[in-house]
Amino acid sequence: MIDFNRPAFVGKELSYIEDAIHRGMLCGDGEYTKKCSRWMEERFHVGHVMLTTSCTHALEMAAFLTDIQPGDEVIMPSYTFVSTADAFVLRGAKIVFVDIRPDTMNIDEKLIEQAITDRTKVIVPVHYAGVACEMDTIMDIARKHNLKVVEDAAQGVDAYYKGRALGTIGDFGCYSFHETKNYTMGEGGAVLFNDDAYQEKAEILREKGTDRSKFFRGQVDKYRWMDYGSSYLPSELNAAYLYAQLEEHQKISDKRMEIYNFYNRNLAFLAEEGKIEQPYVPEECEHNAHMYYIKVHDMDVRTRLIRYLRQKEIGCVFHYVPLHSAPAGKKFGRFSGEDVYTTKESERLMRLPMFYNLDMEDAKKVVDAIVSFDDF
Ligand SMILES: *Cc1c(COP(=O)(O)O)cnc(C)c1O
Repeated sequence: MIDFNRPAFVGKELSYIEDAIHRGMLCGDGEYTKKCSRWMEERFHVGHVMLTTSCTHALEMAAFLTDIQPGDEVIMPSYTFVSTADAFVLRGAKIVFVDIRPDTMNIDEKLIEQAITDRTKVIVPVHYAGVACEMDTIMDIARKHNLKVVEDAAQGVDAYYKGRALGTIGDFGCYSFHETKNYTMGEGGAVLFNDDAYQEKAEILREKGTDRSKFFRGQVDKYRWMDYGSSYLPSELNAAYLYAQLEEHQKISDKRMEIYNFYNRNLAFLAEEGKIEQPYVPEECEHNAHMYYIKVHDMDVRTRLIRYLRQKEIGCVFHYVPLHSAPAGKKFGRFSGEDVYTTKESERLMRLPMFYNLDMEDAKKVVDAIVSFDDF
């Protein structure tokens, strides 16, 4: 069986976890948590990176920090993971879904402005497959209408738009280190921002409403309950795993690129024959090989192809069922304008196996199996 995904393991994870145990501090914000934050702050040129227990929680923090109030509207694509919406729904927001572009599967920036009302507070671009949304346009719209931008960069770690790291362009960025993502700690994430004005509030929110972070820095002599908050900080054990991955990010990235380019090269002739479509990466975007997908003619072909590959013991999967068509999506959201591409494009997309430890022989088997399918 060729799995669809397996979490990356590069080598030093176990020894760093062991080291964390010997240091005698397993709770959050110890040595490895700090190392991960520093590493990302330096590499991605961003003021603040705080590790969280998931990207879902990073998004929840962003929903708090953008001060979402019941009835506020948040604009996002419907073609995304539930957490993008859930984090804001928890604060009482109404979700306004905007159609995607068929080329990148990202929110269509040209349709955002017409979805804005006087209740709109935040725009959430989701960088699908680590390919950036049209961020210059989105930031211009946000400035013009005085809105905040929260980037769901769960899939966009170490991917770039015009040279800037995804997650560092909007007011907030949210990363995921779930085991299905490029770099992992099992479950985990990070919230990123540049504006120092958010630092204290974010620290308090992340640390159960206390000023424990200040206490640790020696800025106060006891820590107290300061404001509302929750527990969004991961354990050192998880951070130790992640740090081993970040240190070897080039190795992980090179391997994923190798797989991506292999699929892309060897399936190109099927695209030329009009049987499939391949991913499109705009010139200003540097992607991170988070995912390799193809689009076939329609859902029927996709169902047949996935079944065919399963028979050959290859784990290919489809992706999001658009949120606006789901029960909670109907309850908490509305679609702005017409759903021209969201449903149609989502129904014909499927993802191929992509993970660090994937054997290139197996990648070849995947290609051969797709090429041998005669029912496009
Ligand atoms: C994976 C993912 C999330 C959720 O990440 P978790 O770390 O599992 O909470 C959110 N949004 C998108 C676009 C994702 O791909």
